[in-house]
Amino acid sequence: MSVTIDLAGRTAFVTGSTRGIGRSIAETLHAAGANVAVVGRSKESADAVASAIGDRARGFACDVTDSASLRRAITACETSLGPIDILVNNAGITRDNLLIRLTEQDWGDVIAANLTAAFVSTQAVIKGMMKRRYGRIVNVASIVGITGNKGQANYAASKAGLIGFTKSVAKEYAGRGVLVNCVAPGFIDTDMTAALPEAARSALLEAIPLGRLGSPVDVAGAILFLASDLAAYVTGQTVIVDGGMTG
Ligand code: NDP
Repeated sequence: MSVTIDLAGRTAFVTGSTRGIGRSIAETLHAAGANVAVVGRSKESADAVASAIGDRARGFACDVTDSASLRRAITACETSLGPIDILVNNAGITRDNLLIRLTEQDWGDVIAANLTAAFVSTQAVIKGMMKRRYGRIVNVASIVGITGNKGQANYAASKAGLIGFTKSVAKEYAGRGVLVNCVAPGFIDTDMTAALPEAARSALLEAIPLGRLGSPVDVAGAILFLASDLAAYVTGQTVIVDGGMTG
């Protein structure tokens, strides 16, 4: 018996794939044979990443907090690469502060990028997926959405919201062949965590049984699994990728 993951003929739309975890997701899905839409705020960097990935990848610019721009990018992707079979809602931001200092702007910006954008993109692709009776949606949450974290009330709320959203949409569309899951990364080495002071980084390492920060490809591997036929009986779940941190 041999097991292979073959996404040839599938089209994946990965938000926030110009850098970090999203870029690794785009590279991994492409390596498994999928056509891949690389999506970021700048057309120039989306195009540059897409051409570095290869000939089944194309760059699309959109700000996920602007619903019209997100819907336009989805339509442009479907015109150029084909109907979206795999949607990965990965774009995300932090605006960390203690609750007492958190502004409504910090709250709203994080909810818009991390949660509302996933609602908009999921709604935009779901009809097509239902018609074709096939779809894989993977939302990138965070362990912080499960455990909470000081200084991240807005971020944790957005990620916990994403987990609840995922479970609900999974139940609504399971009968139509659309599977919806989350991946919850722990601490992954990207621009988002680059600003961590050295002392905080060392304390974190102590708390991670596998003894290292995760790399983007660790997260991409879990997403590849959820996007593949190997995960045909998995929906509404959250796969934790945190080096054992949350136990
Ligand atoms: P990075 O900051 O390295 O990259 C963020 C990506 O999201 C970039 O491609 C960026 O595009 C894009 N993006 C941000 N805001 C928008 C927007 N408004 N519209 C379009 N694209 C946008 O983040 P990571 O790779 O670290 O994180 C990816 C996801 O993983 C996020 O959802 C994050 O919350 C989650 N996560 C990360 C963890 C970590 O430790 N790094 C841990 C747990 C979860 P652009 O190039 O245009 O800025």
